Formats: sequence, structure tokens, C-alpha cells
Amino acid sequence: MNLLDNAYNRRGTRGQPMLKLWRDAGLMLTWRCSAACAFCYYCCGPNKTGLMTVDTALGAWEGLVRLAGDGAKIHLTGGEPFLYFDRLAQIVEQAHRQGLKGLKYIETNASWATDAVEIRDRLRFLDANGLEKLKISWDVFHAEFIGPDTVLRLKEIAEQVLGSNRVLVRWQRYLQTPVKIRGLETREKNKVYHQALKQDACRFTGRAAFRLAGLMAGRPAESFSGRNCKSEILGAKGVHIDPAGNVFSGQCSGIVVGNVQETPLDKMWAQFDPARMPFWRTLVEDGPLGFLRQAQAAGYVSPGQYASKCHFCTDLRRFFFDKKLFWPIISPEECYSE
Ligand code: SF4
Ligand code: SF4
Repeated sequence: MNLLDNAYNRRGTRGQPMLKLWRDAGLMLTWRCSAACAFCYYCCGPNKTGLMTVDTALGAWEGLVRLAGDGAKIHLTGGEPFLYFDRLAQIVEQAHRQGLKGLKYIETNASWATDAVEIRDRLRFLDANGLEKLKISWDVFHAEFIGPDTVLRLKEIAEQVLGSNRVLVRWQRYLQTPVKIRGLETREKNKVYHQALKQDACRFTGRAAFRLAGLMAGRPAESFSGRNCKSEILGAKGVHIDPAGNVFSGQCSGIVVGNVQETPLDKMWAQFDPARMPFWRTLVEDGPLGFLRQAQAAGYVSPGQYASKCHFCTDLRRFFFDKKLFWPIISPEECYSE
């Protein structure tokens, strides 16, 4: 498809930013995770459920290919996708059989990597079915739940099976010098979190907003005046799609553009017209501050200080979600319950 296939872009005037083509899609196999990282944008954890069907995954993948052609990039993620390896394997194998390309990477926290034979078998299978890279997430937040030995085991075997240029660890430096965080008291843990947040930017959506943002909060709501979300929404390179098919633009978890079980992804992109959809128009023109008055009228009490615009936005949205306002755009529950 090309840019003018989108309703918003067709009406645009010269020089005005256009809605980018979505080229990337992160398919979230499940909300369930072996960890419950404090910085998880999606509030995943052991108590969460949901499992994407093969049809939903392949339908979204096909939609992305219709949209972006050879530029389509898929990654499979969660939650922890290897908790449901059989489903992961079905999706990857069927996509490969259908000739669907672009499986850039699978994202894992490595917690499943306890048995060398199983690790090797699984990676060989994925390699034979089109996987380009394995991305292992590990930092101080993951280290609360998964030890470095498990991560190193997966990394080493993955490098043998796939080659070292096809294995990424985010962040390698934490593996070289693991930070002790397990068993720390809250105060000490918060110091470690704080240090990590100063080093690597965090968007403060989802659990990151609920658990961590308070450590960095220092800006009142009014300081976000003029900070709209035009560039984030129009410039998003892609989407994340949850197990039920809900589509989130870019990294804006918990704000639903549509559902691929109802509308194919390419059609959803073509119809997405933020300037004519009141909720999205407010974000594009005014950012989260545009919702403050309505929230206050409904009883919202500000915590006073926020860490960032996205923290402010998430705090407002959690309030709206609890009041069932803006539903189903502000949904699903998994994004708003820790
Ligand atoms: S950040 Fe990743 S590993 Fe951590 S809880 Fe979320 S999905 Fe699980
Ligand atoms: S403020 Fe809200 S809509 Fe804007 S980029 Fe952040 S999460 Fe997305």
C-alpha cells in the first residue's frame, strides 16, 4: 500500500506530517510471563492469561504483508512466548509453509532455558522455519526473576545454533557485570531501579508507570502543556497486537486502535484517521493534558508530580479505565491491572 491509501493522509495538505505505513508488528502470544518485571509496559506476569490463536497471528501477519510488502517485519513476543512453545511453533511453521516472510526476531526472557537438549531442538526448529534472530531480554528488572546462568546458557547455545550475529542480549553489559537485586529490601531495590532508569530511557507506560515512575516523578501536569502526541502516533513505525487481537500503536500500550479479529490490519491502517476520531484527535493535538479537565470533573485526583508525559497519560487512562470511560479504546484490562 502507499501513504495515500490512508484516509488521514489523503486529506492532508502539503508539508503536513503523514501517518506512516506500519511496517512492524509485535505479536504478543500471551500476557502470561514467568517474570513480572517492574518496568513491563504491558503488565505481564505469572497470573495473566490469554493465548493468541494461530488464525489471529497469521491474519495479522498477512495484513502486515499487504500493508508493507517486503518491508514487513514481524516479531513474536509476550509475555513469555516460550511458555507456549507448541503454539509458537504452530504459528511459525504455518507462516513458513504459507511463504509469509519477515520473522525478524522472537523475544524471550530465557527463563525456560534449563535443558540444553530442549534449547537446541527448539532453536533448530525455529531456525528451519524462518527465524532471523533471537532477542534475549535481560537487565536489572529481569534479574529479579531470572538468574544470569540461565541467560548465559541460552545465549551460548543460541550462538552455536544460530551464530553469534543472530543473538541479541538487551543489555549485554548487565550480563558482563550482573547487578544484585534479588532479595533486596524495597529501599535498596528502588536505588537499583533508579540507577537503571537514569541509564536507559523508559516510557513509563503499563507497570513501569504504576511501579517505577514515582521514583523519577518531578513534573506537574501543567508542564506537559504543548506536548502533544502527534509525532508518536503519526510516526509510529508499527503496532503491537495482543492475544485477543487488540492493536496498539507503537509503544502506546492500553490504547486500542482496533481489533484484527474484526478488521484486517491493512484495512485498519487505511481507515485510521486520528483527526476525525475525537479521542485520537485530543492526543494528536493536545496530548494527555487535553483529557485532564474531563478527568478532574469525573473525580481524578492527581498524584501531583509525574515522571513523563507517558506516565501522566497512563495515570489518566487507568482512572478512565476504572470508570469505564473511553472503552474500548482504553482497554484491555490486562494493561491496567498489575
Ligand atoms: S518485561 Fe518481558 S519478561 Fe518482564 S514481565 Fe514483561 S513480558 Fe515478562
Ligand atoms: S502520552 Fe500516551 S499517547 Fe502519547 S506517546 Fe505516551 S502513551 Fe502514547
